[in-house]
Amino acid sequence: MNDNPYQVLLEEVPFGPLVARNRFFQVPHCNGMGYRDVRAHADMRAVKAQGGWAVVCTEQAEIHYSSEITPFIEVRLWDDADIPALEVMTERIHDHGSLAGIELAYNGLNGPNLSSRVAPMGPTHLPVAGFVDDPVQARAMTLRDIANLRRWHRQAVRRSLQAGFDLVYVYGGHALGVVHHFLSPRYNHRTDAYGGSVENRMRLLRELLIDTVEEVDGAAAVGCRITVDELLGDSGISREDIEAVLGELGEIPDLWDFVMGSWEDDSVTSRFGPEGGQEKYVTGLKALTSKPVVGVGRFTSPDTMARMVRQGVIDFIGAARPSIADPYLPVKIAEGRAEEIRECIGCNICVSGDFTMSPIRCTQNPSMGEEWRRGWHPEIYRRRHADESVLVVGAGPAGLEAAMSLGKRGYSTVLVEQSRQLGGRVAREARLPGLSAWIRVLDYRRSQLDRLDQVDCYLESAMTADEVLSSASEYGFDRVAVATGSLWRSDGVGRWHTGPLPISGLPVFTPDDLMAGERPGGLPHSAGTRVAIFDDDHYYMGGVLAELLRNEGCEVVLVTPAVMVSSWTVNTMEQHRIAARLLDMEVELRCSTTVVGSSEGGLRTACTYTGKEGEIKADALVLVTSRLPEDSLARELLARREEWDGAGLKSVTAIGDALAPGTIAAAVWEGRRYAEEIEAPTDDSDATPFRRELTAL
Ligand code: ADP
Ligand code: SF4
Repeated sequence: MNDNPYQVLLEEVPFGPLVARNRFFQVPHCNGMGYRDVRAHADMRAVKAQGGWAVVCTEQAEIHYSSEITPFIEVRLWDDADIPALEVMTERIHDHGSLAGIELAYNGLNGPNLSSRVAPMGPTHLPVAGFVDDPVQARAMTLRDIANLRRWHRQAVRRSLQAGFDLVYVYGGHALGVVHHFLSPRYNHRTDAYGGSVENRMRLLRELLIDTVEEVDGAAAVGCRITVDELLGDSGISREDIEAVLGELGEIPDLWDFVMGSWEDDSVTSRFGPEGGQEKYVTGLKALTSKPVVGVGRFTSPDTMARMVRQGVIDFIGAARPSIADPYLPVKIAEGRAEEIRECIGCNICVSGDFTMSPIRCTQNPSMGEEWRRGWHPEIYRRRHADESVLVVGAGPAGLEAAMSLGKRGYSTVLVEQSRQLGGRVAREARLPGLSAWIRVLDYRRSQLDRLDQVDCYLESAMTADEVLSSASEYGFDRVAVATGSLWRSDGVGRWHTGPLPISGLPVFTPDDLMAGERPGGLPHSAGTRVAIFDDDHYYMGGVLAELLRNEGCEVVLVTPAVMVSSWTVNTMEQHRIAARLLDMEVELRCSTTVVGSSEGGLRTACTYTGKEGEIKADALVLVTSRLPEDSLARELLARREEWDGAGLKSVTAIGDALAPGTIAAAVWEGRRYAEEIEAPTDDSDATPFRRELTAL
């Protein structure tokens, strides 16, 4: 008898003409590579298949030039010329015994057609509903347009089969395609047979599903991804609508895949929503169809996954982010190694790849997007090149990742950390409001390091240059990685002020001070103190510190030169939630404003457009502007190069924030890069050190 407690997750699931080898289902997800980075994309999906995901899907695939979402980069199936690129992917997925799915999307109102330039089409005359307010309007589709769309969809289904896909999706989710737009009263104001009642609004979906089933003719399964609630009551797709859809169309496709609202509602970060947050919206829908049901929820706990299946909420464990953070999640559960899962931290750095049109990266999984480009793998490491040993100084994300990856490569490694705990900035930042899941960056690496005999860790071991050089000769270290991190600046230098900000007469704090427990009004708390936060960093830190201080009873005014608070978090789909939370907490927001100096009662400010000066009252100032590398150790060691030979040292390299302060994802990636390139660093290389997809002319 199989004693795996999660056996239920390993059961086969038949659907349509197919059988999935287990319940792990990599749902469609964007990746910033799409049609541009063909082989990089194919290998990224292939590693998921290798890691045991029974079904591996593309992101939304554009089916026709008249509906494209430039500048975003998704896969395309506009005509036959796009088939070979997708064939590369299906072959790579099939190589590892998984089923390949494609999500056919006619973007409709969501596609501004910046490349093809033809007027977009939707149910109604409306401005396009993309992520940027493009000055483009979609036109209402005529019956002839609808007939064209049905033909184009059929052609895309045919091409999908030619490209080797096993599962073809009709996409009605996330407000990202015409099926959703027709279903939703928010967008569909038609008065003909395609508008009004829910029966009419689902007509296009019905037709596309029937067309697709006919077109695949048993050669592939048909899936439908659909938004189960837009959270807008009767003005949007409601629970009643979806129950009606399942009542009418529930038996037409071979599989249903349920998502929440728009993409922002579906892919909530851990700062704003828990694992399994969609359960209450999906519960009960499975009873309305005999077909298997996929659901998502940033699942990383096998207990939660098994419970969802046992309780009959879903049949397939759908995952985008958990499969990005750990492509081997299914294999680890199957092999009884669930505690080795590299859990997603819910930061949405992966989403920022799509939003910035750059290849997907992941905070937890630095090999994401590098499978083909650099030959990195999430689990398999190249054996060490030489019998060398390495000293890594500093156990933040960069040092932890470097030590772990070096250990996995077989290098004898010593990791030293000056403080009493591992984790560096993640250990500190995970204590801030809403960021507790970020501690998983440390948890995963610490548990891996515990299993690696080649790596020893020492806490409370601050290293000076003398100590590094003497321990190199004493213990035979060949190489040193300096991962000593960075500190926030207290002089206001950043994007807006590239020279120091003149502040006097009021106490100044940095994020490091606050994370170390200092408070504007003194300890234990600062209730009643009026604190100004100057956020010229624009990622999460300014907003999170506003929450921290407000929770403790401070009056908080957040001043930022950007037009909105935490402006970069548009790319992690959090900005609207951050603004709402701060406003709900009565944090005063002063956007398009910069701090220019201090005044009698606080600070002098200036409008970033007009330069007009103003004043705000404040008892203290928190500067969230930029950081400086803590690189004195690296600089001193590099300056003493002539002593290396005597100590037996071959290289000293600053990595992570000690090289250039950046995101946690960037520090983890640098740690991995150091371990990957240790024998042949590429920093001075004339040649591009990774593969690119080049257009053949
Ligand atoms: P990164 O993001 O690059 O990993 P962090 O700031 O998170 O950087 O981590 C740097 C770590 O290095 C911190 O835990 C810090 O205590 C440690 N550290 C800094 N200087 C030294 C030193 N001289 N010796 C040992 N550890 C150090
Ligand atoms: Fe999860 Fe963050 Fe990785 Fe995305 S980038 S998969 S949210 S850990």
